Amino acid sequence: MSGAYLQCIEEACGRRQDSKRNESSCAWCGGLLEVKYDFDPFDPEALRRTWHQRRLSGEPIDRSGVWRFRELLPFVDSSTRIVSLSEGSTPLVGTRRAGWWAGPVHLTIKHQGNNPTGSFKDLGMTACMTRALARGVPMVACASTGNTSSSMAAYAGRAGIRALLLVPYRQISAAKLAQALDFGAIVVEVGDTFDEAFGLLRQLAPEMGLYLVNSVNPFRIEGQKTIVAEMLEQRAWRPPDYIVVPGGNLGNASALGKGLRELKMLGFIEKVPRVVVVQAAGANSFYQTLAAGSRELIPVENPSTEATAIRIGRPANWKKARRVLEWTSGLCESVTDEEIFEAKAVLAEDGVGCEPASAATVAGVRKLVRGGKIERHADVVAVLTGHQLKDTEYVMRHRSQSQENRQRLLVEPSLDALRRELEKLLTIPAGGLAS
Ligand SMILES: *Cc1c(COP(=O)(O)O)cnc(C)c1O
Ligand SMILES: [Zn+2]
Repeated sequence: MSGAYLQCIEEACGRRQDSKRNESSCAWCGGLLEVKYDFDPFDPEALRRTWHQRRLSGEPIDRSGVWRFRELLPFVDSSTRIVSLSEGSTPLVGTRRAGWWAGPVHLTIKHQGNNPTGSFKDLGMTACMTRALARGVPMVACASTGNTSSSMAAYAGRAGIRALLLVPYRQISAAKLAQALDFGAIVVEVGDTFDEAFGLLRQLAPEMGLYLVNSVNPFRIEGQKTIVAEMLEQRAWRPPDYIVVPGGNLGNASALGKGLRELKMLGFIEKVPRVVVVQAAGANSFYQTLAAGSRELIPVENPSTEATAIRIGRPANWKKARRVLEWTSGLCESVTDEEIFEAKAVLAEDGVGCEPASAATVAGVRKLVRGGKIERHADVVAVLTGHQLKDTEYVMRHRSQSQENRQRLLVEPSLDALRRELEKLLTIPAGGLAS
């Protein structure tokens, strides 16, 4: 790692680590680690042009929305084999109804569902699988609420490394499980919650020589932080007022903050957007901890929410995320499953699909505007973390009888019957069908 090293984030410790050992906790105090760099001085203007030009390149490394910004990830050099599936380069799309509903605010969607395995986890996975390959590890492992496993399995397959997945018993969506199995991961169902499975794995991983790819792996954060560079480039380097993410294990919020901090330090931006974390009310450990002003995490023992991707009671990265909210004058909000459901429905009216956890962002913005914490007409980017098809059970479970009656018709296969039905339908005004 030229010019890169791992360092403990605990203020009382802060020690540099030996890069040959365990990479997910401090050898002295067990604290979280982060990757630090001695960055060479950059000319931001020249680098922006280079990044932009790479979009026209056919090289796999340039087509990746992570590695296109490789100057921000100098733990690799030109001899490193990059494990990529052309992740990132996700769209930034405007909204109409959702922005109106949530504010009104000027709401833009950064849709991370448009990644190779359908979630933002791919941004982190390309970075940490590249690292795992460079270290020559025999097996990678994670505990997961679903998307980390899909992503790990795909990238491990690509790297030719075996993959082991621990999931809470019968709690991950069928689509996510299918992805992991399809990509050849070994799946172990263990415990009733993510936290239980993760706690077990975290203790066993070092002993068994498993390379942990959960978001406590600091290289995950490195890949995920590039989302801010990509988003800012898409906005001609004009920072928004707020960037909103759902909060589960809080790796994403940590990554956003690290990305913003480095871009500011390196002279790419002046103004730093405020980072907003939104949790589900049944799994809002971080929200409660901040609200109580507690220096210790207040865990949620039996986290419950239909937004399974954020059903986590002990967010491992909470200290990194707290630092991010401090740096950026950020906010944290908690929303009910009903509010998440409404937000998801409004996004759908704009033609934007996502999984429930992702819609928590827009529900959170609405609540914060109503509570006077976000100004009306603010410039807000919501990061939608996962693809609509990740959890179709959720969609089908929530359909009302009247929606079914209006939207799903059974017609006998004759021209006459079909014509009669269509004539009736054509008298219904546009928009009257879905709502
Ligand atoms: C992983 C995940 C989250 C939570 O992200 P953290 O980094 O764990 O806070 C939210 N939404 C989706 C769709 C996810 O896959
Ligand atoms: Zn330490």
